[in-house]
Amino acid sequence: MPPRSSRAAAPARPWMFVKLAASRPASRGRASPTSGRMTLWPMRDACGAAARADRLGVPRRTQNPRGPDMLWSRTLIPTLKETPSDAEIPSHSLMLKAGLVRPLGAGAYSYLPLGWRSLRKAIEIVREEMDRAGALEILMPALHPLSLWQETKRDQVLGDVLIRFRDRRGRETVLGPTHEEVVTDIVRNEVRSYRQLPLILYQIQTKFRDEERPRAGVLRTREFIMKDGYSFDADEQGLDASYRAMYEAYVRIFERCGLKALAVEAESGAMGGSASCEFMVVTPSGEDSLALCSSCDYRANVERCELPPVAETPPGEKPLERVATPGVATVEKVTAFLGTSADKLVKTLICLVGDEPVAALIRGDHELNEAKLARLWPGKTVALADDATVQRVTGAPVGFAGPVGLRGVKEIVADYAVAAMTDFVTGANLADAHLVGVNRGRDFRPTAYADIRMARQGDRCARCGGELRIERGIEVGHVFKLGMRYSQAMKATFLDEEGRERPAIMGCYGIGVNRILAAAIEQHHDERGIVWPAAIAPYEVDVICLNPAAAQVREAAERAYRSLVDAGVDAILDDRDARAGVKFKDADLVGFPVRVAVGERSLAAGGIEVKRRDSDEAEVVPLDGLAAKVKELLAKG
Ligand SMILES: [Zn+2]
Repeated sequence: MPPRSSRAAAPARPWMFVKLAASRPASRGRASPTSGRMTLWPMRDACGAAARADRLGVPRRTQNPRGPDMLWSRTLIPTLKETPSDAEIPSHSLMLKAGLVRPLGAGAYSYLPLGWRSLRKAIEIVREEMDRAGALEILMPALHPLSLWQETKRDQVLGDVLIRFRDRRGRETVLGPTHEEVVTDIVRNEVRSYRQLPLILYQIQTKFRDEERPRAGVLRTREFIMKDGYSFDADEQGLDASYRAMYEAYVRIFERCGLKALAVEAESGAMGGSASCEFMVVTPSGEDSLALCSSCDYRANVERCELPPVAETPPGEKPLERVATPGVATVEKVTAFLGTSADKLVKTLICLVGDEPVAALIRGDHELNEAKLARLWPGKTVALADDATVQRVTGAPVGFAGPVGLRGVKEIVADYAVAAMTDFVTGANLADAHLVGVNRGRDFRPTAYADIRMARQGDRCARCGGELRIERGIEVGHVFKLGMRYSQAMKATFLDEEGRERPAIMGCYGIGVNRILAAAIEQHHDERGIVWPAAIAPYEVDVICLNPAAAQVREAAERAYRSLVDAGVDAILDDRDARAGVKFKDADLVGFPVRVAVGERSLAAGGIEVKRRDSDEAEVVPLDGLAAKVKELLAKG
């Protein structure tokens, strides 16, 4: 290949591939035969089109400061006419139809040129904002020794999600699902003094999680790109400042990506730690449920959402009675059989706290929140008991447990809502029998009342008493205050001003980069296809040459394309020998923010037709005003 001296000039807005191309001598595209079996292709072969053009003997333009011309006919955009039958949600279907991604195996996707361009733009926004917030980019291995995970016992916490194997020397190895352990190992080896703190390290890297049910396209996969950041501070105030800086960076990142993301209170889950906040993109196809107060700004994942205490009512008047309920064991069947409603029934759920059984009482139409229940016993595992334990504790088959006369449990915890119930139905701790006319105080006594259920539509806000509404959301980011969990377990200590050894105080901050694309598509699409926010569109503008066979049209389309590229607009030229309808359809399906169409009719009308994807209004502008017009349209986001 000839040297690309003409490309060495710094472009106005250098894209990654242009920088790579300019800094790498062309002859190093592949390794010499002496370099072993590895073939060293350039990491990001966006200049592949140019290389291919060389091989084909096609003349290549060199005056374009941003690299080779991007011609639709020379890239790979395999759009589909049919909606894929296995697509579960709009983003899944549209990413396949628009030719952005292709599945390889369960929960693993290849990003084709358009998908990868969008993903790279999202990555670049994330990187810019992390850098701006003072975080330092590093790159950690995806291969971890299992021993590192054993130091924090998270090999057990993550269980089967952790992909592990033995290498050829028999060393137990893990494919990293997250990097708290690895980054803490770096800090315990390299940080000695409070003078080196605060420190925020981050990376953008592929993670591996053996999800039980990969689903919804790129939303839940076993391999994905994550931005994960970790802060190390000398004290709590330091952690507050790092957390705040990351939170603000996240707000900017999602705004720049064109996402309407809400910050909601969240459960810390397997990460541990005190405070945590999720950034959620509200969309009907989201996996998470969020509770949003309609009167104040309280917002929380339903797993986390606090519910207010309820005043205890005095016991009812009805006598306690045992009734036969042969083979009737579910809430639905019991209420139908007894001619009552679910809110007049109390479910008795036997749980194991460590290995001790406890009973949780929940109103029949409510749902137990295991995370809330678990918070009552910090540091212990809490789970629903297996059938054998339920039978041993209650003396009855599953479905007939009740609080009256229940002796096999250490505690009976009642949800707040139970405090307002009288004359209700419970199991009788006896096969095929229930109790009616049950009352607290008179017939049994809970050891405690607590908030242990899932929030639902219409519940009261614990902060202001307003009404909660439930929405679905996609989690795109999560910030945690971790505290000293990892630094203590792994002895990541530093010397403070008085020379005392102290564990660093940590925070961790994740963004699911692939999810940014899926969430953007969920929020921005219509029946024709994707409607990209300009910042993460694969190309900002699609220049459609409506009749490449006509020299006048072809030349005008090329001039239009060049005027945009020269003005710093990221454009592609649809030069295909195809019907206009096909090109318009593909433009709408892929969802370029602005479409520029050049044909005999627009030229006769004095120029070129310009239209935003999200508008039906087209406008004909003269060629010399095109770039300014397009930039004006793109500025709207
Ligand atoms: Zn409220």
